[in-house]
Amino acid sequence: MTKEQGLGVQSAPDRKTAYVILGGPDDAQNFAKAGEILRNGGVVGFPTETVYGLGASVYCEEAIEQVFRAKGRPNDNPLIAHIADMDGLEQLVSVMPETARKLAEAYWPGPMTLVLPKLPLVPDAVTAGLDTVGVRMPSDPNARAMLREAKVPVAAPSANRSGKPSPTRAQHVWQDMDGRIDMILDGGQCACGLESTVIDCSGDGIVILRPGYITAKMIEDATGIVPTIGYGKDLGGSTPRAPGMKYRHYAPKGKLYLATGEGSLEEQCKAIADAYDSNFAHGSKCVILVTEQDKGFFGEREQILIGNLDDLSTIAHSVFKAFRDCDTKGYDLIYMRCVPEEGVGAAIMNRVVKASAGTV
Ligand code: AMP
Ligand code: MG
Repeated sequence: MTKEQGLGVQSAPDRKTAYVILGGPDDAQNFAKAGEILRNGGVVGFPTETVYGLGASVYCEEAIEQVFRAKGRPNDNPLIAHIADMDGLEQLVSVMPETARKLAEAYWPGPMTLVLPKLPLVPDAVTAGLDTVGVRMPSDPNARAMLREAKVPVAAPSANRSGKPSPTRAQHVWQDMDGRIDMILDGGQCACGLESTVIDCSGDGIVILRPGYITAKMIEDATGIVPTIGYGKDLGGSTPRAPGMKYRHYAPKGKLYLATGEGSLEEQCKAIADAYDSNFAHGSKCVILVTEQDKGFFGEREQILIGNLDDLSTIAHSVFKAFRDCDTKGYDLIYMRCVPEEGVGAAIMNRVVKASAGTV
């Protein structure tokens, strides 16, 4: 690792990026090409059911370094190794604890990453020097086809530039990665829209390191063990106490402000409307991310609909796209209410709080 890479210094775009739309007669050929690029040390943006990934062969350190350069991110962050089937696990992991086996049986292929003790042959570049490796078997058919052709585990973070919202469409990958990687596979919209649940099974008990579609309740159902919450405790609870005090992540360029979650629906909407109006009066371009439940409160103020609180998966599906749409339209200030932290709501709030700059 050079000092430059350690600081996350960006490389200038210098590659020709092939863009391939999947779903046609050439799919088999395109997956074979992507597999060949990966085996030869190239970097491929590919769809999964969570978000788009930026893939490189686990065994090619030069390609792993290119992933970090393309993202503009310091390489002290471990990557997730993606596998096509259980044979792939044997190339990565030294032991498979019973709890992990139960989780894998229940939720793989799917939006779940298991952190497990690694084999010595897994490079430090992938695991950031940890003695564990994060492994995921995605369910997206395009991801699976590419992984089968790669014939090696594929290390991949989300395919966004560091700090930006995760990409849920291939166009987002193109915006961030054109000229920095070798190929982008366009498989349309991601089914889930939020990153995988990361679960540490390498020690005693089960620890959720990042919330996602696979919830604490689902983990308990599969294993009989109540998982420990190992993420963002200082920002937890239905009311984010201090969003923005940590570094912003997943964030749009405009500043995102959250209604605190206290008070009635009407009171929260009024707090947002008041903040909007006073900043609008001072010349800021403002927008409100609304749900079916509160969209009626804001009259003529600019709005983007992000889903329905009766089905939080609709919001999970569109929240990152909404952040990117805010950037495209050049909004300075973005407002939204918190969602209930039930089911996938915990994962939505985890991302939204990290993206936020404060409360109204
Ligand atoms: P991303 O690269 O954006 O998909 O995020 C990957 C996530 O998985 C990060 O939150 C990592 O910290 C986490 N992760 C991957 N591997 C490990 C590991 N071995 N131990 C702990 N966390 C991991
Ligand atoms: Mg990411």
